[in-house]
Amino acid sequence: MNKIEHIGIAVKDMETSNTLFEKLLGVSNYKMEEVLSEGVKTSFFMAGPNKIELLEATTDDSAIAKFIAKKGEGIHHIAFDVDDIVAEIARLKQEGFVILNETPKKGADNKLVAFVHPKTANGVLVELCQEIVK
Ligand code: ZN
Repeated sequence: MNKIEHIGIAVKDMETSNTLFEKLLGVSNYKMEEVLSEGVKTSFFMAGPNKIELLEATTDDSAIAKFIAKKGEGIHHIAFDVDDIVAEIARLKQEGFVILNETPKKGADNKLVAFVHPKTANGVLVELCQEIVK
């Protein structure tokens, strides 16, 4: 795995949180994107070299809606950049991690993504991200 690609934060209200993170980080978001298949709206900020992703649920059965109902707003996942997501999924399975989607799916911000179940990673939802080369 390479560097941390971004940190995902679950929020209740994107508009309010965009304003809040704009004040906090001193920069505006550079992109907003809806991922229909996940039932989320996302907003991306760069703070220096670091990327923050805000996630708001757009449906009641979205993973973000369930997370907020259970735990409230806050850090939802840590995403790592990987060169070969298929190889990384195979390696982690071999190591005994449970992968939530063994076939990588299209995520926000031009990435192929897969998630490691938090129950096998000390309560941390880990996202693997591979940049889609255009
Ligand atoms: Zn993410």
